[in-house]
Amino acid sequence: MVSPAAVALAPAPQHEPRDRSALPAFPSAATLDPALAGFLRAASDQLCRWWSESAQRSPLPLLSVLPDAAPAAQGLPPEALLEDLQLVMDGAFNPVHPGSMAHLDPPPLTASVAADLICAGLNNNLLAEELSPSLSRLERSLTAWMAEALGLGERGGGVAASGGSLSNLMALVVARQQAGLQGASDALVFCSADAHVSIAKALMVMGLPPQALRQVPVDGEGRMCPEQLRHELDQAHAAGLPVLAVVATAGTTVRGAVDPLADLAALCRERAIWFHVDGAIGAVFGLSPLHRSRVPDLHCADSLTVNPQKLLGITKTSSLLLLRRPELLAQCFATGLPYMEPSWAEAHGGESGLQGTRPAEVLKLWLGLRQLGLSGIEALLSGAIQRRELLQQLLSPLPLELCGGPLHLLAFTPAGLDAVAAERWSLQTRQRLLEQQLMLSRPLYRGRHHLKAVLGNPNTGEVQLRALAAVLAESCSSSPA
Ligand SMILES: *Cc1c(COP(=O)(O)O)cnc(C)c1O
Repeated sequence: MVSPAAVALAPAPQHEPRDRSALPAFPSAATLDPALAGFLRAASDQLCRWWSESAQRSPLPLLSVLPDAAPAAQGLPPEALLEDLQLVMDGAFNPVHPGSMAHLDPPPLTASVAADLICAGLNNNLLAEELSPSLSRLERSLTAWMAEALGLGERGGGVAASGGSLSNLMALVVARQQAGLQGASDALVFCSADAHVSIAKALMVMGLPPQALRQVPVDGEGRMCPEQLRHELDQAHAAGLPVLAVVATAGTTVRGAVDPLADLAALCRERAIWFHVDGAIGAVFGLSPLHRSRVPDLHCADSLTVNPQKLLGITKTSSLLLLRRPELLAQCFATGLPYMEPSWAEAHGGESGLQGTRPAEVLKLWLGLRQLGLSGIEALLSGAIQRRELLQQLLSPLPLELCGGPLHLLAFTPAGLDAVAAERWSLQTRQRLLEQQLMLSRPLYRGRHHLKAVLGNPNTGEVQLRALAAVLAESCSSSPA
């Protein structure tokens, strides 16, 4: 056993004599170390170079070499660390590439990259206020602003979460508590057939059986049918089954469809059912007066998931769970933090959700939004919509079934192919597109493979969209009908 005295006598690392050019393992508490500042500059130069060379590469790298995963016997010097980093960077997916249109992963907003660095350097902890005094307050203010901006009222607010799956899970746990259904294994959750897989995952974590999830059919545009929901709620009621929540989607993952929120909310209000809106993709459109009508009636939600990491480009992860009554979070999740000073406000960050220790993800969201301003947010949304509209226009003469919606997503598959032929077409066409540095994804939707374009990348221009349409035209003329 090491006695406390022996520990106290061990020299602290920064007191060891060292080479003046070597990278210190920890920042000095007393001097500005030029080697440390130089290292951070070199790392950001390397990143800027990686970004700037994107167009010469491909969204998906070819074969890449991974550096050793395990630490070497001796620590590496800074140059070797940067070389190792470069190897990983060379093998990374590149969201900055203009042909990067496959997923909801746009280029990073530059101010949010800087904020992420500062966040790491501050190394605060949103668990408790004494570990993140300014940042805890910033999170409360920003979530309150966002909740109000999206219509959840002036008392609205919420919590940041590491991804939309976690936001959806927390929303359903709060909903269950509000319904008094903890421990009820027969409780049901209704969502649409096109809802995100994280809803099913949440129910799994909550200990509910697979049949707890009821997927309501969608209409031809991919929107949940209120009449179908009414019918299924009536059936559940007749069978004596309790309902935990209805989850609507504002922006479905394949085509960006927006469920009819007002109609669904009215059904929920009638029956006192919690109404959660998964706006991981679409809710940000509610921040712009010009685009708000694409996601109408967000204000009807009891809880709302927003993912600024998607279209807004806030560096990952950035998701918010917003509630009309944010105090319900602590009512649900607070267990007491007996080893912490009491909170200065309503509740500690670690009492307002599932996560304990968590980084101050709010910093990059806040700085990114400040960088854009309201006009910049609107311009970003407008750009994405214009690209989707142009692509839709370019593809509409082709024999493709287009699946879109009011947002910036467009999925398509050749008309009249069976499942096997559609899969073959999607594989071949995706490969042909990749050969031209154009990356689309290949979702299975309504039993057939589609190709999907997400037009949130501001670097994508008309050139890429025309090249994309040309490959698709070619694929349609050569595909076996
Ligand atoms: C992306 C997405 C999620 C999940 O968010 P993660 O951040 O990936 O966990 C939930 N719902 C919808 C509609 C999404 O598109």
